[in-house]
Amino acid sequence: MKKTSILLIYTGGTIGMIEDFESKTLIPFDFEIIENLVPELKKIEVNIETISFETPIDSSDMDIISWKKMATIVKDNYENYDGFVILHGSDTMSYTASALSFMLKGINKPVILTGSQLPIGTIRTDGKENLITAIEIAAAKENGEPKVQEVCIYFENDLYRGNRTSKVNAEDFEAFNSFNYLPLAEAGVHIKYNKNKIHKRKKEAFEVFTELEENVVILKLFPGITKEVVQAIFRIEGLKGVVMETYGSGNATTKKWFLDELRIAIDKEITIFNVTQCLAGSVIQGKYETSSAFNELGIISGKDITTEAAITKMMYVLAKYKTKTQIKSKLATSLAGEMSK
Ligand code: ASP
Repeated sequence: MKKTSILLIYTGGTIGMIEDFESKTLIPFDFEIIENLVPELKKIEVNIETISFETPIDSSDMDIISWKKMATIVKDNYENYDGFVILHGSDTMSYTASALSFMLKGINKPVILTGSQLPIGTIRTDGKENLITAIEIAAAKENGEPKVQEVCIYFENDLYRGNRTSKVNAEDFEAFNSFNYLPLAEAGVHIKYNKNKIHKRKKEAFEVFTELEENVVILKLFPGITKEVVQAIFRIEGLKGVVMETYGSGNATTKKWFLDELRIAIDKEITIFNVTQCLAGSVIQGKYETSSAFNELGIISGKDITTEAAITKMMYVLAKYKTKTQIKSKLATSLAGEMSK
């Protein structure tokens, strides 16, 4: 029987960093070193091939160009591999996982992002387990079909749907959480798959979309926010979309100047997507008086989407769809399992 093949894509991040002798800061190093540091990789019964960003980056430098690179690598190698593991810094991993979940439409193979809190060369590193288990998950099959057929994050024993995650801890090995969606799998002695949470094989064709709209912004409301600040954001030249982080179940101030600003923005065809600042739960527009104007204004409810998924979904939807009706309906419905029905 043909050996399962996995493509390991190295983009950078702590997992592949080393302390710079002079500056004492962590900087990315060459991928070959990772292979030497994890000799276990040679023992896995999987054919692993690797590809690396020419210049590995700290994920704080992640951008649309890098997402295009990753999506294109998956596209160009789609037929030749059973699954993909992306090594990525944890800081912006949830944004990347969310972006890829939209860009890799109709994917029927696993794309597992992982990284670590401690470099793989350090004795107590969490990187080895994360890497080895991510490869095992990407290679897992049942009746000849991949067990996981979507973009995920594997970190510290949990496999999450990527577009449901947020980085929640800068120190703990358990750096991610998915507050509104249960893990797809948990790794203990055995890897237990939560089958009814994992996407079933998609009927639509696999299609990679690499154009994203960059004229978007996240506006986080806070008590005391001034008219000048809100105006400055909404009046950015060429702005197409705003992810507005509101309070609780989607509430915001009812002050007249604020509602006026929203109305002016909507009249200028700026799309506004309402997400909650809460870590768990959902926007319910109209539940309170403080969100009752939003439906009438044409603000779109992000329901239980994360901010990371909302901003990347907006980049994707605004680039792909042109009419107001299409944009509204695509943002309001789940495209890759990023929001509940
Ligand atoms: N600053 C690092 C990065 O995101 C942190 C990490 O990898 O965990 O690239």
